[in-house]
Amino acid sequence: MTVYDYGIIGGGPAGYSAAIYAAKLGKSVVLFEKDKIGGTCLNRGCIPTKTFLHWADLYTEFKSGVKKEIYRAEELGFSFEKIFEEKETVCNNLRKALELVLKTLRIKVIPYEAAIGNTGKITANGEVYECSKIIAAAGAKPKEIKGLEFDGEFILSSDDILNLKELPSNIVILGSGAIGIEWARIFSAFDVDTTVVEMAPNLLPAADIEISKRIERMFKKSGIKFYTECSILSADRANKSVTLSNGEIIQTEALFVAAGRVKNDIPDTGENVIVIGDCAGEIQLAHYAACQAKNVILGIPYNKELIPSVVYGEPEIAWVGKREQDGEFKKVLLPITALGKAQCDNCTEGFIKILVNGDKIAGAHIISKEASALVQQIVIAMQNNIPVEKLKEVCFAHPTYSEGIFEGLMRL
Ligand SMILES: Cc1cc2nc3c(=O)[nH]c(=O)nc-3n(C[C@H](O)[C@H](O)[C@H](O)COP(=O)(O)OP(=O)(O)OC[C@H]3O[C@@H](n4cnc5c(N)ncnc54)[C@H](O)[C@@H]3O)c2cc1C
Repeated sequence: MTVYDYGIIGGGPAGYSAAIYAAKLGKSVVLFEKDKIGGTCLNRGCIPTKTFLHWADLYTEFKSGVKKEIYRAEELGFSFEKIFEEKETVCNNLRKALELVLKTLRIKVIPYEAAIGNTGKITANGEVYECSKIIAAAGAKPKEIKGLEFDGEFILSSDDILNLKELPSNIVILGSGAIGIEWARIFSAFDVDTTVVEMAPNLLPAADIEISKRIERMFKKSGIKFYTECSILSADRANKSVTLSNGEIIQTEALFVAAGRVKNDIPDTGENVIVIGDCAGEIQLAHYAACQAKNVILGIPYNKELIPSVVYGEPEIAWVGKREQDGEFKKVLLPITALGKAQCDNCTEGFIKILVNGDKIAGAHIISKEASALVQQIVIAMQNNIPVEKLKEVCFAHPTYSEGIFEGLMRL
């Protein structure tokens, strides 16, 4: 019987990254994936969402150009069907490319549900696979709320949302984490009357308080309604309405429950099983999953405190490290409107906020076009303990959004 160096359950970012790193070291790998290679991220998460978001943002920008009489359009509209097709194409292309990488590296892919049996053994489709090391990377699934169970028609999960072929005319979104915020932006851009309901006192509760407050202002400006310190008590599928904890009843075509994700169970995880990615139940992000895989296979460490968070859409929202509410820090806040590039791009909403402790950056909180790229510069500085004075020596290109980091640091 072949003994594989690694048996990996789950073909998402955690599992496929681990498989690729191990195979590149010359290890023999068997990878089990019961659904589609690429996992949640590629098939039901990051990639499809960002494809919808791209076309939504472009549409908003185009509408703004028409309003400014820069563009002329006889009839401005969009085909959601075509956007859906585009999303399918992007996902299919990326999946095919990934499958080719796995094939080229001679990773054996078993397209069945796997279970961990006796020590060192994985069973799938009636076969037993012996493995020296087992990695469980089975991911997570949308969290169901009692009384608001998904039905795929009125009460929708993020999986259902990504399969909508037509847009509703209005929607209520429960939860304002990254998924809720991104979809509120998508729906609203496509003229869907959108309402967000959040239990916490502010939208995007995991973020710095100033970020949350700015999102609330941006939502108000763009017509996205929201309730904070509020929950949904019940949903009436027949009458298509939801009752809020404040007593209000909202008529809605659909309710999207975006209230977090729960880890998938891996039965019988023994001592020799390493659990990584979303099913480890820690930080549920694709890049964290990939970092854990890199750590497990290559021994490259990562700093859990410095995992960046990004919420996509225009403008992007990104942060790393400590938040204002986490302690006492020296702070600088540079409005994006101060940047030449932002003025050129007609994208002046947002700020770059840097928190400093002693001579080092403690955290950064950014709302800006390209915030996802900006935050990475801060992560590199923080991870390498680069003092603020040293960063001031760096030459930042002009005109860029990066200059905002430099300008911010110079004001400290
Ligand atoms: C709408 C949405 C948007 C998101 N956007 C972002 C984003 O912008 N950035 C970001 O970093 N993260 C984002 N995420 C989160 C990201 O998708 C996950 O953190 C990431 O996919 C976790 O990777 P994973 O490999 O741990 O799990 P998964 O990607 O869930 O992969 C697990 C795989 O294991 C398979 N599996 C499970 N059990 C078995 C079994 N017994 N046998 C065989 N196969 C099994 C599953 O079919 C699945 O393919 C988003 C998630 C959602 C839902």
